[in-house]
Amino acid sequence: MNSLSASKLPRRIEGLSELAYNLWWSWHIEARELFKVIDRPLWKAVGHNPVRLLQQIPHHRLVAAAQNATFLDRYDSVMTDFRGDTAGTWPCTEYPQLAQHVIAYFSLEFAVHTSIPLYAGGLGVLAGDYCKEASDLGLPMVGIGFMYPQGYFHQRISADGWQEEVYEQLNFHEAPISPVLTAQGRPMKVEVPLNARTVHIAMWQVNVGRVKLYLLDTDIEENSPSDRQLSARLYGGDREVRLQQEIVLGIGGVWVLRALNIEPDVWHANEGHTAFMMLERTRGLVEKGMSFGEAADRVRATTVFTTHTPIPAGNDVFSLDLIEKYFHRYWGSLGVDRKAFLQLGMQESDSSVFNMTVLGLRMAGQRNGVSQLHGGVCRRMWHSLWPDIEEKDVPIGSVTNGIHVPTWVAPQMGGLYKKYLADDWLKRHDDPALWERVLDIPDEEIWAVRRWLKDRLLSVVKDRARRRWCEDRVAPVQALAMGALLNTGVLTLGFCRRFTDYKRGALILHDVNRLRRMLQNDLQPVQIIFSGKAHPDDERGKQLIQEIYNVAKDPQTGGRIAFVEDYDMRMGRYLVRGVDVWLNTPRPLQEASGTSGQKAALNGVPQLSVLDGWWY
Ligand SMILES: *Cc1c(COP(=O)(O)O)cnc(C)c1O
Repeated sequence: MNSLSASKLPRRIEGLSELAYNLWWSWHIEARELFKVIDRPLWKAVGHNPVRLLQQIPHHRLVAAAQNATFLDRYDSVMTDFRGDTAGTWPCTEYPQLAQHVIAYFSLEFAVHTSIPLYAGGLGVLAGDYCKEASDLGLPMVGIGFMYPQGYFHQRISADGWQEEVYEQLNFHEAPISPVLTAQGRPMKVEVPLNARTVHIAMWQVNVGRVKLYLLDTDIEENSPSDRQLSARLYGGDREVRLQQEIVLGIGGVWVLRALNIEPDVWHANEGHTAFMMLERTRGLVEKGMSFGEAADRVRATTVFTTHTPIPAGNDVFSLDLIEKYFHRYWGSLGVDRKAFLQLGMQESDSSVFNMTVLGLRMAGQRNGVSQLHGGVCRRMWHSLWPDIEEKDVPIGSVTNGIHVPTWVAPQMGGLYKKYLADDWLKRHDDPALWERVLDIPDEEIWAVRRWLKDRLLSVVKDRARRRWCEDRVAPVQALAMGALLNTGVLTLGFCRRFTDYKRGALILHDVNRLRRMLQNDLQPVQIIFSGKAHPDDERGKQLIQEIYNVAKDPQTGGRIAFVEDYDMRMGRYLVRGVDVWLNTPRPLQEASGTSGQKAALNGVPQLSVLDGWWY
């Protein structure tokens, strides 16, 4: 089943191998503890990756664990929960009417765990959280995404404050993934025509509790060198590479499900990047004898499309030349001509480009924005697609983005909720009445937990600064800008998100002299932690980082501003738990939802936020 030889494990605890290859462990604290107690220093050294832990651990430690009664008690209890939660059936007790209906969820990014870094930001975190929530609820879902061996970049900030991008190759052998095999034990593959050639696609499987995530991989020997690179990186290439990626994911993803004999009842496109899947399903029905109109209606009836973009410029568009190049052999098989095909991705007002959001809106029967406010923005933005009805009746609704609670709540906070809300608070966390009881938690107890979490954050931040100082020999002033002078006794604001113009990361520096007085106030000082990446092509985003970094380096700031490098899920967890105030200053109506503030709120952190997105 996977590359970890189970024979290395003593019989009595051989289930650890299966547990290591199911990310279920990552949101169950007892399971995390189980791996941790086997070898604490090694657990830290392998970056909390149980696959690596089991590969590297000295055999005698496993033998000792298998003879340790306390360990075995823990092991048995975790394995019982694990088996109960991942059994083949889908016991959707809350929504039994849904238990029989498979949902296929297509997304260009999935953030499930740091050991498989297949995401750039919020879009991917949302997709990963949905997989985990579907598993917890017992909703039969499969995910379709890409295996990017180089993932997204790691961020370093140079002495002059400029972002540098470092790409690392993922070691497949050490990741919790397994190749998808045929009944004969050979790698399962599908083919997708790409212009005049054929691209071959292999698949990896990631177990997320009950949910299976299938990741497409073009880096196999049947493909040309450039096609092998198609799945190398997230958002790495030019528009043509991007179009090829979207064809591989959208059209190839449908072929993958066919090869696996999975027949979804609901097809969900997370953002327009994956909308080609709607065309390929239509083509399949036309091939069986339906007209294009009938087939498209059938596809609409089973398709959900979530759009995340709040501004026209943010949409995923391709030039008509590119679309023509890659689809001129395809539209015939849909039973339409060039004009009708291009129309699927065009607005009346802009017939110069093929817009993936327009394609998704036209081909999906259920369409939604990602917060109440954003739903309204979408109805206005896309009114021209439904010119005969009033704006308020435009058929785009909203479902506010959410978070997977067990992933983001600090165990200490969860402990308080368990003690003062209910034993089964996690199962009932969407019941507002439950949260009334939050007021019963004594202030001292909340405060003690909040202090502890802030201590934790600052020690992680300072530890990073120290390592960069002694291992990478950064200048002393850089270590200060990375947070070496932060102080647990000081009120701490956090601004942690992608650096891009509309999020206005540098807004709080607007009146920098006033800010300095507040930071350095003798009695009530304030400090601010910034963290976040800019897209590699986003010059403006990089300038914002530089602006903040330069203020952080300035002695007049007193070391009270820190920029923490390489924001990712892992650092994000410390930040949303550890700061005192969560800062959010997007240009209004441009933050479609955002979810990081929800993570902070769950951990008792108040918001200082513009009324936008989910917070509205
Ligand atoms: C939650 C999360 C996001 C999304 O946060 P926003 O509120 O959209 O800024 C982005 N990146 C990471 C690593 C996250 O954990």
